[in-house]
Amino acid sequence: MTYSFECPDCGNPRGMGQECGHCGSITAPHSLTDTLVFNLKQDGPTVEEALERLRNCLRNATDLGIKVIILIHGYGASGQGGRIKWAIHEALENNHYSDRVEEYHFGENTAYGSTAYHALLRRRPSLKTHLKHFKEGNAGMTVLILNTYSRIA
Ligand SMILES: [Zn+2]
Repeated sequence: MTYSFECPDCGNPRGMGQECGHCGSITAPHSLTDTLVFNLKQDGPTVEEALERLRNCLRNATDLGIKVIILIHGYGASGQGGRIKWAIHEALENNHYSDRVEEYHFGENTAYGSTAYHALLRRRPSLKTHLKHFKEGNAGMTVLILNTYSRIA
């Protein structure tokens, strides 16, 4: 995962939802951005593990004030990548994450330069810093726009 967070205790970059590798602090890290890239397929999880990871990620992300997640789930007609992708599509379409996710946009529908892509960027300009994910293999990702109403300011 990319480091989009900073340790409030020592100021070093940190991952989300883990203790600080530098000072061991478990205080919630400060978010440096409202956009998170979350690689779900890292170290080849099973479908169940991937769905669980997403659930944890969504909980941490909403707590930290993240507004949009670029979810990298991979793709493929067969194999684990494909299964994870379809499980995620199905879970989203069946509103399994609707308490956290306000909108979802499948990568194949938001190809770089398309109308949907431009609409998405107008809504969340911070996505501009992650253009490469739209350009490369966009069928392997989904953009999640999170609910922010539950956040305590
Ligand atoms: Zn620290």
